[in-house]
Amino acid sequence: MFSKILIANRGEIALRIQRACRELGIATVAVHSTADADAMHVRLADEAVCIGPPSSRESYLNVAAIMSAATITGADAIHPGYGFLSENADFAETVEEHGLAFIGPTAQHIRMMGDKITAKTTMKALGVPLVPGSDGALRSIDEAREVADRVGYPVLIKAAAGGGGRGMKVAQTEAEIEEAWSVARTEARAAFGNDEVYLEKYLDKPRHIELQILADTHGNVVHFGERDCSLQRRHQKLLEEAGSPVLSTAERDAIGETATAALKKMGYRNAGTLEFLYQDGQFCFIEMNTRLQVEHPVTEMVCDVDLVREQIRVAAGQALGYEQADIRFSGHAIECRINAEDPETFLPNPGTIQVFHAPGGLGVRIDSAIYAGYRVPPYYDSMIAKLIVHAPTRAEAIARMQRALEECVVEGVKTVIPLHRKILADPQFQRGDYTIHWLERFVDSLK
Ligand code: ADP
Repeated sequence: MFSKILIANRGEIALRIQRACRELGIATVAVHSTADADAMHVRLADEAVCIGPPSSRESYLNVAAIMSAATITGADAIHPGYGFLSENADFAETVEEHGLAFIGPTAQHIRMMGDKITAKTTMKALGVPLVPGSDGALRSIDEAREVADRVGYPVLIKAAAGGGGRGMKVAQTEAEIEEAWSVARTEARAAFGNDEVYLEKYLDKPRHIELQILADTHGNVVHFGERDCSLQRRHQKLLEEAGSPVLSTAERDAIGETATAALKKMGYRNAGTLEFLYQDGQFCFIEMNTRLQVEHPVTEMVCDVDLVREQIRVAAGQALGYEQADIRFSGHAIECRINAEDPETFLPNPGTIQVFHAPGGLGVRIDSAIYAGYRVPPYYDSMIAKLIVHAPTRAEAIARMQRALEECVVEGVKTVIPLHRKILADPQFQRGDYTIHWLERFVDSLK
């Protein structure tokens, strides 16, 4: 087992990783920008190293500074968390070249899944179903027209290097395809320095359902079931559930078997998530995330597993020690992302937290790094807390989340808590009757 882990991240996820390390008896090194000198992840770590000024580029994305911090402190592994360098294959490679363990997959697999076209062709070859569309990159607008005619409008032009919903354009009809093609390419070039695009049929009422996978380095691969992350605004998830309100056990078992078999053949290691669109009983793979996800706690609650601990164990070379049949699903879990944003305009609202009262009681978990007096810096993501509940049934989980949100007090910055309250009270949400388009329409209906 490792003796010291450097956590190359900040906020709630840095703290989440620290907690797993502490329980495993592993010392922790926090890194931080000057803006985060008084952050909770710095206060609670065994050691802390300042790695640069506030801008992410000069601190949390600064590979040289992070590697120096790891060397100076004698860390033997690095956990990248999510965001920042977590899906940067060059970083994973650098970490291993320095003789440290990267707590995640191999650089080769990160690179492969980072390019969505390669990810899709790889998964297709491994027997995973895809959204109908182009076979690889589009070479010309004529080819885009041809493929669109074959799969049927509406279609989506997507950037190979895409992320965060950028470089994605819908064409409802043939008249719109030329513009979608050129706008998607321009956006992709500007955002990712790569204007390669591909085409997918635009599904009109899918759910976003993703599968949590874990693999050790001895050829064992298991899944921990699905998360339903259909509630999104501008492709940003806001509320997640495990399991999905619409998936049967048989459907979960079937897609789980396909996915684990594929990753076994790939020789994948550590945690990963396969994202699917699910419509009319069909799963269509859209992308794979080669890291821990923000919404991993809902899976932890229903499977009674510590995913970060598992990531650390398999990175240290330990075998899983259990099989698929040992994984049991119990009850229902919901996560609400609490962002420091105006609940109507969604504009970030950084500032000083005057009062913070965390909810508690049976089945309530809060993953957060805020405290009263903490100043939410304007430089990073606006998510300040994740509120997670677990209960025997979905209806009880909804009631529990409503109760927990009532108890939760955050003063000094605006948060999206009022919006969560409205979502949870909505009869359609309560019936589990929603698609990826539901939240945007719901938000519009409140105006
Ligand atoms: P990113 O990496 O930018 O997040 P994804 O490929 O994961 O891009 O897609 C993000 C979101 O966009 C999905 O969760 C879904 O809401 C929507 N989306 C992606 N592909 C399609 C599609 N073919 N049809 C309909 N919606 C889609």
